Amino acid sequence: MSNDKKMVNMVKPLIGDEEINAVVEVLRSGMLAQGPKVAEFEKSFADYIGVKHAIAVSSGTTALHIALLACGIKEGDEVVTTPFSFIASANCAVYAGAVPVFADINPETYNISAAEVARALDAAVQHRVKAIIPVHLYGLPAEMDKILELARRYRIAVIEDAAQAHGAEIKGRKIGSFGDAACFSFYATKNMMTGEGGMITTNRDDVADQAKMLRSHGMRVRYRHEMLGYNFRMTDIAGAIGSAQLPKLDEANRRRIENAAYLSERLVGHFVVPFVPEGYKHVFHQYTIRLPEGLDREKVRARLKEEGFGSEVYYPIPIHLQATFMGESGKGRFPKSEEAAQQVLSLPIHPAVEKEDLDRMAEVLLSF
Ligand SMILES: *Cc1c(COP(=O)(O)O)cnc(C)c1O
Repeated sequence: MSNDKKMVNMVKPLIGDEEINAVVEVLRSGMLAQGPKVAEFEKSFADYIGVKHAIAVSSGTTALHIALLACGIKEGDEVVTTPFSFIASANCAVYAGAVPVFADINPETYNISAAEVARALDAAVQHRVKAIIPVHLYGLPAEMDKILELARRYRIAVIEDAAQAHGAEIKGRKIGSFGDAACFSFYATKNMMTGEGGMITTNRDDVADQAKMLRSHGMRVRYRHEMLGYNFRMTDIAGAIGSAQLPKLDEANRRRIENAAYLSERLVGHFVVPFVPEGYKHVFHQYTIRLPEGLDREKVRARLKEEGFGSEVYYPIPIHLQATFMGESGKGRFPKSEEAAQQVLSLPIHPAVEKEDLDRMAEVLLSF
């Protein structure tokens, strides 16, 4: 094939006149810091998720950091999370002075396994575990019913990492409304974006109050600092982009779901395609297949690239094997996550990808 054909990349943020005009309006107003545009975005996001409060912050990472602190996580506590995620899912525990305790994934869903969480909670130091952070990886909700039951039994908090799951649902209920708090990211590549940005959603008044203080130097009243806080505020520029993006989210997710189903139809039987449990709405932040053992992933990626298709590995190194956690010495501790890290491959299915792109992509993959 020729070299001038279009490249289908992993990401293409949807930026229309709505976003551009919204940003221009904020710039013309001359008021750029957190203000009315952020407040407007918080209100519409809370309504969309179906929660009492939404607190906008500077990133998904700062959302997680603040949410843990607002839920009372402190020095010496332990926090159970998955080793198969973006590193922020575990780093946030460290920021709060706590220690992440990993629980392996269910290899079918790639999400933390409630059975493994139960095992971690039953282990010797259980009295120090104060929270569970389930990650809705790739846009597929984690098994929240079982996780919430464990949290109730052990009286610990649940903080959802919903950075990849805007609009995902379990039985019609939106992700972001299940835990004591949930954290979203609006990084440029997510299902909706503000460039950089994040949001904490919660039904708890006390958590919302603490989160608002923590994002702005511990202030309720100007220049009276009641506690140690940070500058994790969102700008009104980002807030305006968010308000323009949110009304487009459902249609963008519908396109992702449609593309995912179309591609799965073509790949099933040859590759392990994404699994969606009954009653779950997967919003396909990533469409991720598992390659058969022995197939060289880098070779597949190189062929896809030659044919004009981006692909990516989320994530090639599980968190426990990273240098700031167990490093090499952690090898073999969480075998399901380690195996997934070796075998997964994510393919572009975002709203701008067309059916004929998917046909060609499937053709390339089936040639292996
Ligand atoms: C993107 C992401 C984050 C961090 O969000 P940022 O906005 O990039 O800080 C956290 N957890 C997961 C699972 C993510 O994908």
